[in-house]
Amino acid sequence: MANRFWGRVVLVGAGPGDPELITVKGLRFLRSADVVIYDYLANERLLAEVPASAEKIYVGKQHGRHTLSQEQINHLLIEKARSHRLVVRLKGGDPFIFGRGGEEALALKEAGIPFEVVPGITAGAAVLTYAGIPASHRGLATSVSFITGHEDPTKESSDLDWPAIASMHGTLVFYMGLSNLPMIVNRLLENGRSPATPVALVRWGTTPCQQTVEGTLGNIVARVEAVGLKPPVIIVVGDVVALRQQINWFETKPLFGKRIVVTRSRSQISVLQSLLEALGAEILAFPTIEISEPKSWQPLDSAIQEISKYDWIVFTSVNGVDAFFQRLHAQDKDSRALDHNFICAIGPATAERLRAFGIKADMQPKEFVTESVVEEFQKLSDLKGKHILLPRADIARPLLKDELKRIGAAVTEVVAYRTRVDEGTSPEVLSKLRSGEVDIITFTSSSTVKNFVAKIGQENLTKWLSGVRIACIGPITSKTAAELGLQTHIMPDEYTIPALVQAIVEYMKGESEKQTKKTRNCSAKLCLPG
Ligand code: SAH
Repeated sequence: MANRFWGRVVLVGAGPGDPELITVKGLRFLRSADVVIYDYLANERLLAEVPASAEKIYVGKQHGRHTLSQEQINHLLIEKARSHRLVVRLKGGDPFIFGRGGEEALALKEAGIPFEVVPGITAGAAVLTYAGIPASHRGLATSVSFITGHEDPTKESSDLDWPAIASMHGTLVFYMGLSNLPMIVNRLLENGRSPATPVALVRWGTTPCQQTVEGTLGNIVARVEAVGLKPPVIIVVGDVVALRQQINWFETKPLFGKRIVVTRSRSQISVLQSLLEALGAEILAFPTIEISEPKSWQPLDSAIQEISKYDWIVFTSVNGVDAFFQRLHAQDKDSRALDHNFICAIGPATAERLRAFGIKADMQPKEFVTESVVEEFQKLSDLKGKHILLPRADIARPLLKDELKRIGAAVTEVVAYRTRVDEGTSPEVLSKLRSGEVDIITFTSSSTVKNFVAKIGQENLTKWLSGVRIACIGPITSKTAAELGLQTHIMPDEYTIPALVQAIVEYMKGESEKQTKKTRNCSAKLCLPG
């Protein structure tokens, strides 16, 4: 039969949770996959890398509930490889460390399906690193053991050699051991380990929800119970745990443990998101705006056709710049067509986007509100009779156009893009808002506030947001928030995304550290083994 064994399977280690901890090779396979078969809580961000045309099949298990048995998963891999070019089997951590990757590889071998394995960073290494615990350390630990904690505690005899394990002077790392913690602790104590031996349990390591409980063999069971820790958890036993006091670099980030709702358009969320995440925050995306093409390109196209007639082009947003150059290129022109125009960029992000098209703005007002823009124009030149082109959003405030006209300019405003309410629902974010699990909501324009309030319902504002801090990018956004009944807590002096992030950090620094000890529900999505 043609193409009978055409496809191949690649077992890819997804890494421990932080989506950036996948390997370059793993990501390359993911990006060219035809089928992706993934486990319980595959990180959604990794799935976003998979081509839209690829088939995505979930085969995970959660709390013992299996979607498919291991046998069925093996069959599925073989069947998909027989009808597709590249099948990626995405597995949490490393496929060959407590991941049953070996069984899948054996099944593929037996079926004659070509396969490759891409290692991943295993939780037993990465989770320790993110908890500030070096797995080995001169003078403290000269070996590291990865041990299953999943043994049936009622079994008569253990497959594990506890006397040997207890006598090792290295670091012991238990996977899948949370429910057996009392048994693990007892075995180590019975076999001579001191009750003073340091122990740490790390839940959802490498994600913004990472939670660590520390203690000793003598007291850890009680401490873990008090906190109500839930899986997935790595257990670390050994003197190296004490180094965390000094090396704990991840959980001490300025926004670690803070849950922040980001309300920009889907395409724009990423800049703000990555800045906040780099500081340790957990981001809940709640897109309120959808950017789309104008109903007609005709006004912008005509303006571009006679572009040399304009003395100035004033860009007020990245979206405006993108739309303008898209249409310029569609007319088979490039930036050289603008050699007669002066260019004004409102806001550093707009200026930077222009630079990407080879344009250095002639004017970049220091403040980004209309009033100061007009003031700067007046300082710079006499605008009487000057032609100004304003490529903007359909809902842009008329103020800028009116003010420029008032000082004598001939202003042509064209719609370069439309903004609409993003109709998508975000049930997870709504439920976190409802249950008071959100720390901060960010608003970067008046429409984000208006659409947010419309989406959650005015009647729910006070009920849901009483404990939430509101961060607005500038005074106009903040004014809109106030009109809708939202008090602004955080606002930067400069109206930019980096300044907003900085203002959030400073505000949170000022707040007392109210660390909740309760086990949080985590929205990070991981790949755990099937
Ligand atoms: N193949 C995976 C391990 C799968 S076994 C790897 O190499 O990492 C599943 C166990 O891994 C969980 O019960 C837990 O002990 C551990 N684990 C995986 N990801 C984790 C994480 N982010 N935080 C804490 N433990 C994790």
